[in-house]
Amino acid sequence: MEDLDLKERLKKVINDIHVKAPHLNINTTEIASYETRGGILNKQTIKRIIIYLRSSGCQWMIDNGGCSMCGHFVGTTRGKKIDSKDYVEQFKKIVSEIDFTETPMLCVYNAGSFLNDNEMPDDARVEIYKIINTIDKVKRVIFESRPEYITEEKINELKEYIKDKEIEIGMGIETSNEFIRDICLNKGFKVDEFKRALKLLKENSIFSLGYILLKPPFINEKFAIEDSVNSIKWAFDNGIDIISLEPVSIQENTLISILHELNLYRTPRIWSVFEVLRRTSNIGTIRVGGFEFFPSPFLCTSNCEKCDSKFLKFIEEYNKTNSINVVNEALDTKCECKKEWLEDLENDNTEIKENINKFLEIYERRNR
Ligand code: SF4
Ligand SMILES: [Zn+2]
Repeated sequence: MEDLDLKERLKKVINDIHVKAPHLNINTTEIASYETRGGILNKQTIKRIIIYLRSSGCQWMIDNGGCSMCGHFVGTTRGKKIDSKDYVEQFKKIVSEIDFTETPMLCVYNAGSFLNDNEMPDDARVEIYKIINTIDKVKRVIFESRPEYITEEKINELKEYIKDKEIEIGMGIETSNEFIRDICLNKGFKVDEFKRALKLLKENSIFSLGYILLKPPFINEKFAIEDSVNSIKWAFDNGIDIISLEPVSIQENTLISILHELNLYRTPRIWSVFEVLRRTSNIGTIRVGGFEFFPSPFLCTSNCEKCDSKFLKFIEEYNKTNSINVVNEALDTKCECKKEWLEDLENDNTEIKENINKFLEIYERRNR
């Protein structure tokens, strides 16, 4: 009962934020953005390109407020339908401008679930598949979807139109902890749904990518490390192929941005990212994400001004090599902020519910 009350009150905060968020003028025939990052494909260091389609946004956000750390909706039409031909035009235009020679990995993201007909019309999705199929240099293509849209029909469609390429589907599992997923994040799906989708992907030889957060809202740094480590182990135990560890970053118009504004949240330290990797990188393939969003976050994982750029390079290097040597080198780095991090791990013992209650009290008083 108490948990339900917390959940409803947090959902109300998310809804308030959405009502106040700006509506942008959006050109639906141009993509939102794209970027290139380093990666690994079949043990080779490669580049991957990430295309952010301009989209109508995530249905979970439109129907249920969305997840507490996600501000993608501001860059979308927020439920207003986009013509299939506009989606295809966006995609055709951008792929005609890209030289894929050195970027065999292509990520196509739509600020939601690519496999949901309400978010990506079936005819547009098929056209995009057909275009991808003609790009010889692309060896692996990655889409994202909530697990409930990963169905036999959608998998058959994928395999019918994309041939001779590796396919990967990313799902935001976020954590193995039901309370955090349900209450702190308002994620709205249960583990069984994820397991069903995972089984289907496996049966069809499609790679599964699981996003695991580092430091969801209301969680202290020490517990956050434990939660990520447990969640990664749990996901690999359940058969996930690849993990993207996502140190939480802060986008505008999110519950987490309000927490930050009230001094109740600090983005995870990069020390913690490497501590999680130290304890998990031998179990399976892990990438470090948390930067690749549209609209771009205004704060990402960080240590201190003196060592941030060095540590961001360590992340880049890890993503290109998956090497434990990079992890050890990062953790052996000398910087004054390491002491602060260790003290924080030692001293911040706040409980999740205590943190939620504290936030709600302040927020509700302020907005009365
Ligand atoms: S994190 Fe994914 S499921 Fe949650 S609101 Fe954002 S796009 Fe939707
Ligand atoms: Zn530092």
